[in-house]
Amino acid sequence: MVLRPPSHQASLRTTVCVVGSGPAGITCAMELARRGIAVMLVESGGETFQDEAQAMCDAELADARRHATMQDAVRRAFGGTSWLWGGRCIPFDPIDFEPRDYAPGTAWPIRYEELSPYYARACEYTNCGQPAFTLDRLAAESASRPITARFQPGDVIASDLERWSGEPNFARRYRDWFEREPSVQLLLGATCVDIEPSGDREHVASIVVARGAARTRIVADHFVLACGGLEATRLLLNVNARHGDRLGNRSGLLGRHYMGHISGKIASVRFDSEAARTIYHFERDAQGFYARRRFTVPARVQREQQLLNTAMWLDNHPPADPAHGNGILSFAYLALCTPVISRYLAPPAIAKLVANASARKDRGAHVRNVCKDLAKIATFVPPFVYRRYFARPRLPGFFLPSPNNVYALHYHAEQLPSRESRVTLAETADCHGMRRLRIDLRYQHADADSVVRCHALLDRHLRKTGAGRLEYWMPEAERVDAVLAQAADGFHQIGTARMAAHWRDGVVDPRCRVFGTDNLYVASSAVFPSSGQANPTLTIVALSARIADDIAAQLARPNASDAASDTANDTENRNDARMPNDMPTDATPVADRNPPSVEPIDEPVAVATAGAPR
Ligand SMILES: Cc1cc2nc3c(=O)[nH]c(=O)nc-3n(C[C@H](O)[C@H](O)[C@H](O)COP(=O)(O)OP(=O)(O)OC[C@H]3O[C@@H](n4cnc5c(N)ncnc54)[C@H](O)[C@@H]3O)c2cc1C
Repeated sequence: MVLRPPSHQASLRTTVCVVGSGPAGITCAMELARRGIAVMLVESGGETFQDEAQAMCDAELADARRHATMQDAVRRAFGGTSWLWGGRCIPFDPIDFEPRDYAPGTAWPIRYEELSPYYARACEYTNCGQPAFTLDRLAAESASRPITARFQPGDVIASDLERWSGEPNFARRYRDWFEREPSVQLLLGATCVDIEPSGDREHVASIVVARGAARTRIVADHFVLACGGLEATRLLLNVNARHGDRLGNRSGLLGRHYMGHISGKIASVRFDSEAARTIYHFERDAQGFYARRRFTVPARVQREQQLLNTAMWLDNHPPADPAHGNGILSFAYLALCTPVISRYLAPPAIAKLVANASARKDRGAHVRNVCKDLAKIATFVPPFVYRRYFARPRLPGFFLPSPNNVYALHYHAEQLPSRESRVTLAETADCHGMRRLRIDLRYQHADADSVVRCHALLDRHLRKTGAGRLEYWMPEAERVDAVLAQAADGFHQIGTARMAAHWRDGVVDPRCRVFGTDNLYVASSAVFPSSGQANPTLTIVALSARIADDIAAQLARPNASDAASDTANDTENRNDARMPNDMPTDATPVADRNPPSVEPIDEPVAVATAGAPR
């Protein structure tokens, strides 16, 4: 139910308080509430977009070419950035979790097998169908055919799938559920501005939320920060500035190792077979969910050739370049360049990417393409509009067949972590006095070098099997620079609160609990130690479901203190991370602290306001 406490109410109590209602927060809250656990879901934004709420996320960019503006990269509203995301769902690969000497600092302290069972639930929450991410598990008529005639698996395979969300907007999909569900209370327009440790202990007692000018304290047994990859880190940085780095930043790593992906195009692929047999398009499973094939490099080959994890897929010719001669692409390009129309067609970041593409922008040539293909456009647009905007599962986009069997090749690859790629607190602050972020996302030569070597690998493989070849868009000597020149992200916000086995190496422990606390979790891509080739949201959602399981397990053990439920190693690391004069953990039976639903606390509480920027 949506909670509307009077603005003067100074304190609320619940069992689990989840901060942020994007995919991470919604998943965690629903997982807990479905077990009857009282949850308060605290969201800074309203039901839909509001300028004032959105402005709180604004950040300073060290290099605007490398990072999207926060206006384009996140949404402050119920549903979070699922208002903007494309809906591409891909699990991480086992190799992303494993140590690789050529990719230092990327190993996770948990194994793939510890997370993989959660991908099934993540597929349900993201609404992308069955957790079937390989061609042999796709129940589609086309699944038995290779991507193009003569293509065989080898150093590169084309049998890994991306799946697409049938309803990517979490607000639309789950709003009614939150209205109905009695165990969960949704507090909109409430921005978390402080986290209050309990005296000298490692337990977080409460958080403070700003609701307009008023401040409300929320007391809970467990807290989950699900504010997004950068905003969770920003909140922790602000809070640590007040609490002496005791919340996960004794390592000094909070904000460091910022990663996204390295993504773009440097080549086309030309297949040497019958064009009509190339599978360039979406395939649909038995339930109608959309999936698409990707070129990937098997783990063995990655290790042998010291390659970072990379995926590539067939794409349309860049729409901005009228040389494609295709009326539908020109029509799409012109529509995306028209501000009022583009708002309904694509998220601002995607529209900008297409409209600002560096290719020649000769509008006259685009108009000529459109006029030539009017009949094609007339038959293409109505079914596309229906499938994209009215049907569910939603059509994720469109890919057009190439009569000469030549496709642009899009790469999406792992970025290595680097201490110098980081976010810090800026001197400027938002309306609640929370210091903004200064974002300095940096790519390394090794990131781009691996992308270029993956292209060479695919080219060799296509030639060897007689399936085709790559046609590069620039000479060999310029390729690494070309990849670095187009390297930019901000949409996938990875690594700034990294997970580690020991507090010296990270910000959260393997259970996603902030080091130095026993009940403060981070549910976000901020905790990923590596970026992999996959987009992050499916893994964010899987981790959120795992956090909910962890909390539920603790609440179900009424006689065990939280400390007793830890492994010896966890306890040692956590205690090791305590500040001087730490007290023992709270041994009150959890069941006694677990009220059946959210309840206001009667006594008024004086709540400190958030600190001003320093
Ligand atoms: C254009 C675009 C395309 C994308 N495409 C894909 C894709 O195809 N596949 C993919 O996997 N990922 C994609 N992403 C990334 C994806 O959107 C994010 O990974 C995902 O939304 C992260 O979910 P989250 O819940 O962690 O954070 P968010 O969705 O950002 O939600 C965070 C929530 O916390 C709230 N909040 C923030 N601070 C506070 C606070 N202090 N107090 C209270 N509430 C707060 C926010 O208002 C927001 O509702 C894309 C992103 C963009 C911008």
